[in-house]
Amino acid sequence: MPRIESVTAELLHDQPLVNVITRVRDSDGLEGVGEAWWGIFDRDRPSRTASPVIAVVNDLLAPRLVGRDPDAIERLWFELWDWGYRYADQGIFPMGLSGVDLALWDLKGKRLGAGVAALLGGPVSDGIPAYASFPRYANRERLVAETARALEAGFTAVKLHEVDPDMVAVLRDEFGDALKIMVDVNGHFDPLEAIAVGTRLGELGVTWFEEPVRPMRDHAAIARVGAAIECDLAAGENEYALADFDSLLATGALAYLQPEITKIGGLTAARRVSALAELYNVALCPHNFRLGPALYASVQWAFTSPASRWLEIPWVPPGVAFSFPAPLPPMRDGLVLPLEGPGLGCG
Ligand SMILES: [Mg+2]
Repeated sequence: MPRIESVTAELLHDQPLVNVITRVRDSDGLEGVGEAWWGIFDRDRPSRTASPVIAVVNDLLAPRLVGRDPDAIERLWFELWDWGYRYADQGIFPMGLSGVDLALWDLKGKRLGAGVAALLGGPVSDGIPAYASFPRYANRERLVAETARALEAGFTAVKLHEVDPDMVAVLRDEFGDALKIMVDVNGHFDPLEAIAVGTRLGELGVTWFEEPVRPMRDHAAIARVGAAIECDLAAGENEYALADFDSLLATGALAYLQPEITKIGGLTAARRVSALAELYNVALCPHNFRLGPALYASVQWAFTSPASRWLEIPWVPPGVAFSFPAPLPPMRDGLVLPLEGPGLGCG
């Protein structure tokens, strides 16, 4: 039986968009590659904000994994979750655990010569709609240009991180009603502002209004906003434990749930969250703003749940790159297709 020989996390930051990449190497010389959340970006010193998550992997988790059976993913996950609980079930501990878990799944798939979705029963559909997720531009010309570029690449939907609803009106005027538009304000508004903006977004026909209120995890405020506007709401990228998702979904305010696989504890945790999405009958839309293992894990996961509705594909301007080099997943007619290749499928 192979044994885990090493577990490491490192920050890749040779390009503007950083990645926290995890690696699990076994006694047969195979290596699984995963990803943890990269931290809140610090332009001047990117390593500063990622280092606590990297320390979770290298200092807390790695010593408990070396010598263990890499195939016992579920067992290892629960042991680590239970052991690390004193660091809390939210924040940097599950972020680090996510990176380890994804690397273990990649390793297992590579050992068995199978994609992760195949190991979990096989894809439940032939394709999942994808949207191009933009950074915030606050610039009409750039927004129009990037939308045109995304449509040329085959997307049928775009997500803006603009807080001014007039920017949505610009795209409606330019591209018409067929374009699907999501709006993510990352908790920019207080509840009264969010109701006003959400009312306008509903009139503009946006698909969803994401993380409308500050703080982002104020479930009661999200419920108040949801009850006051016609526009559907999306949230969940800042939730962690299964109980957090249950609390959010119990408000009844969400149409779209957006767990982030590099925060919640990886694929092992994600499968339980997707079961919860199925139970509450909301659309599962994995949050992701990275290319590489995080995106590929999100795609593998999405293909295991019939609740999956939209995949988030980061869409950055020409010349801006991610530090982990990976191509976009295969797409056709605006749909992401099941991944080829063993493990997570990104090499
Ligand atoms: Mg978001």
